[in-house]
Order: sequence, then structure tokens, then C-alpha cells
Amino acid sequence: MEGNFTLSIIKPRAVQKGFIIPILEKCHEAGFRISAMKLVQLTKKQVAGFYKEHEGKSFFESLVEFMSSDRVVVILFEKDNAVADFRKLIGATDPSEAAPGTIRNLYAESKEKNAVHGSDSDESALRESDFFFSKMERF
Ligand code: UDP
Ligand code: MG
Repeated sequence: MEGNFTLSIIKPRAVQKGFIIPILEKCHEAGFRISAMKLVQLTKKQVAGFYKEHEGKSFFESLVEFMSSDRVVVILFEKDNAVADFRKLIGATDPSEAAPGTIRNLYAESKEKNAVHGSDSDESALRESDFFFSKMERF
């Protein structure tokens, strides 16, 4: 799995705005294949667990509130060099700094409501994948 997978989440505001399909289209064009996917509303506890590295930071409570406020799409993507290539495709965390044409540049509203999550390392991709999917759910 190492090097070939990354975990993404299409965040609540992008789902509400109808951006699921346009975002998946960008991922498809960039060569990402869907290995597992689900549409779910996460509990605050699940979000806090997923983002535990950020616990205690100024934006944490608001992030937990936002990410549990409505449905999200959780996707395990497969591609060579998946983590780095996906981070490049989505752009910087703050959409005002995200390069033109990146997913966050096109579909984010703010630094918090920045349309998508992308794993930051192979280690995170593995942890995040295990957090959401069983081995049987991956194709
Ligand atoms: N975030 C925020 N304010 C900040 C930094 C981060 O609201 O100052 C949110 C934002 O939704 C971001 C998530 O917390 O995507 C996780 O932050 P991280 O620094 O890991 O950014 P990412 O890896 O998503 O680019
Ligand atoms: Mg991160």
C-alpha cells in the first residue's frame, strides 16, 4: 500500500454546494483511481479522532464542529506517488494561497472550509485508511 494510496475527504460545504462530481472529475483527470468510497455524516468524536494531531490548536473546536455538521465523502485513492501528487492537485491549505486550477483554488470557501482533505504522508494515509475502511472495503 505504501506510496500508492492517499485518503481524501470532500468536506461538508463542498458536498452541500454540489461539488462532489466536479471534484471527483478533477481526481479522475489527474489519474487517481477510487479504491474505496463512502458518503457519511461523522460524529464529533470521529472527527476529533481523525484530526487528533491538531487537538488543542485554536481552530480545532471549530474544525470538529464544521466537519461533523453534514455529510462528507470519504475516498481512498490509488495512484503512483499518491500522497504528494494529491497534495499538489488540491493546493495549499488556505485557498487564497492555492495555485490556480487546484481543487482548493476552485472549490474552497475559506481556510477551514477548504473543500477537501488529503493525507500528508504515507504513514498518515495508512492510519486514515484504517480509520475509515476495512480491508474488505478496498478494491
Ligand atoms: N484548518 C483551519 N485553520 C487553520 C489550519 C487548518 O481551519 O489555521 C483546518 C483546515 O480545514 C485544514 C485542517 O484544519 O484542512 C487540517 O489542517 P492541516 O494543517 O493539516 O491542513 P491540510 O493538511 O488539510 O492542508
Ligand atoms: Mg493535514
